[in-house]
Amino acid sequence: EYVIVDGEVLDRTEAKVDIEDRGYQFGDGVYEVIRVYNGKMFTGIEHLKRLAESAEKIRMKLPYSPEELLSRMEELISKNELDTGTVYMQFTRGTSPRNHVFPGGNVAPTFVAYTRKVARPVDPMEKGVRAILDEDIRWLRCDIKSLNLLGNLLSKQKAAEAGCFEAILHRGETVTEGSHSNISIVKDGVIITHQADNHILNGITRQKVLEICRNEGIPFEERAYTLDELSSADEVFSSGTTVEVMPVVEVAGKPVGNGQPGTVTRKLQTLFKTEIERQCGN
Ligand code: PLP
Repeated sequence: EYVIVDGEVLDRTEAKVDIEDRGYQFGDGVYEVIRVYNGKMFTGIEHLKRLAESAEKIRMKLPYSPEELLSRMEELISKNELDTGTVYMQFTRGTSPRNHVFPGGNVAPTFVAYTRKVARPVDPMEKGVRAILDEDIRWLRCDIKSLNLLGNLLSKQKAAEAGCFEAILHRGETVTEGSHSNISIVKDGVIITHQADNHILNGITRQKVLEICRNEGIPFEERAYTLDELSSADEVFSSGTTVEVMPVVEVAGKPVGNGQPGTVTRKLQTLFKTEIERQCGN
């Protein structure tokens, strides 16, 4: 397995990061996960543009443009002969003696990337998954895809311990997103999903789903919705790079609708698959 460390392609066993890397000490960095189908990246450039935006939001300058990164990732996928899986990449603010203040401009970001084989979650996509509810205790810049994921981890761990796939997060009465995905509801044929602001990560999958809705004339609203709306929704689904469009059939021990994946969710899954095949072949 090959990986990239600081722009260099190495064997994984040779990859090393300093103990004073700011990602390791502070979570001072940003990352992306891109899906690979048939050896091709799906929505690759969208992810890499978001990476550049996340970096800018934390005042970090990336040494590569999204287009340059795209070709580096293509190279890594091909070297590792990856067919179906993911590419992970992160940039931290580099290595320097521990200090909360940013290091000077002479300290270059640490860049790490690697690939992983990951199958499409066909079975849960067919049957649907369960979710718990958890208070969203994260900071107020959830729009940044930063390495600081402790809030997400604590919620996801709670879900896992309850035998559930996801924790649906809420700030008081308002549903924000999931611990590792965006959460949308369907009511009377209309999809409702939290607006892209500082309270959620604007998922590339979420954006793709909304683009599909626009093209197909499926009505949607981007607005905050409440826990009451969640519990009386006809359908609930989670969306994300590795989970695609995932039906949620039970929330906090209570069935969603009739407890089966809903028709709108099913339709989105089909349209999403068509989009994957259009971009990556089948
Ligand atoms: N929200 C959070 C907190 C996430 O970690 C993710 C990542 O998968 C998403 C939403 C979905 O984003 P994307 O569709 O870009 O993978």
